[in-house]
Amino acid sequence: IFDVSKPLLNRILERRGKAFLTAVSEVDFEIEERTTYALVGESGSGKSTIGKMLVGLLNPSGGDVEVEGVNLAKETDGDKVAEVRSDIQMIFQDPYASLNPRWRVRDIIVEPVASKGGDTKGLAEKLLEQVGLHPSDAGKFPHEFSGGQRQRICIARALASNPRLIVCDEPTSALDVSVQAQVLNLMSDLKDELGLTYLLITHDLTVVRHMADRIGVLYLGRLVEEADPETLFTDPKHPYSRMLLDAAPRMDGFGREVPPPTGEIPDPIDPPSGCAFHPRCPLAADICKAERPQMRLIGTSKVACHLAE
Ligand code: SF4
Ligand code: MG
Repeated sequence: IFDVSKPLLNRILERRGKAFLTAVSEVDFEIEERTTYALVGESGSGKSTIGKMLVGLLNPSGGDVEVEGVNLAKETDGDKVAEVRSDIQMIFQDPYASLNPRWRVRDIIVEPVASKGGDTKGLAEKLLEQVGLHPSDAGKFPHEFSGGQRQRICIARALASNPRLIVCDEPTSALDVSVQAQVLNLMSDLKDELGLTYLLITHDLTVVRHMADRIGVLYLGRLVEEADPETLFTDPKHPYSRMLLDAAPRMDGFGREVPPPTGEIPDPIDPPSGCAFHPRCPLAADICKAERPQMRLIGTSKVACHLAE
């Protein structure tokens, strides 16, 4: 069991005997270099779990996590795992929590390089300029910066080791609305200038529309639709994607995700049979309870729904 919300953890504890949960299952996607792949879904859909497993913040208690042919969960050659992991960096939701308050910004930014004995001379200053801060900021501490500036520092740290992939987990949802667009624009500009590749994890469809080249929609730990933004926003093929688009996600005053109005996510400990979306789906038919739909190609989209046509 890993990465579960408190209410879910309580439900698991209540059950004692069956404290097991499949958080992510059969999720398979390709990210083209120099593009942004967005994973969207409600809270509890498994999107953060995927990001954390990619960078090694979580290890699954069972199953496989395969990246470019290396099974990060089971590979016993530590060098192989380290090689894949060194190509992946992460930007977190909360720039307050993810910066060590006792470290100077310089040391924070160069850490991914310094820890491997790389050359860090002038690196922090160069990266600070790239993210729109001043080179002299390198000598300051995190508390001397605003939330948006701190997220810029996190981006600089993520860039330091020239990663092939940057996982961004809700990178702007902890920031004031007024600075969210600035940080997203910076991420876009850096992607174009430096040829970056992002895995963007978010529940915010406006962010997705602005940033993504390809979108994967997750429901209860499985991909249910994959499409390019234009197609997904104009012609969503999975009933769940349609529901997400109809129910523009909102945040409450504490920055928590407010569930869309039409039904609750079922208990992931006891997922529904067949298509896990059937209890909420307006189109559900008999086959939906009996058989789990597989992903199949419809036009340029991939959809896991018996009735997608
Ligand atoms: Fe709805 Fe059936 Fe499609 Fe699932 S498979 S989304 S229940 S129509
Ligand atoms: Mg999350």
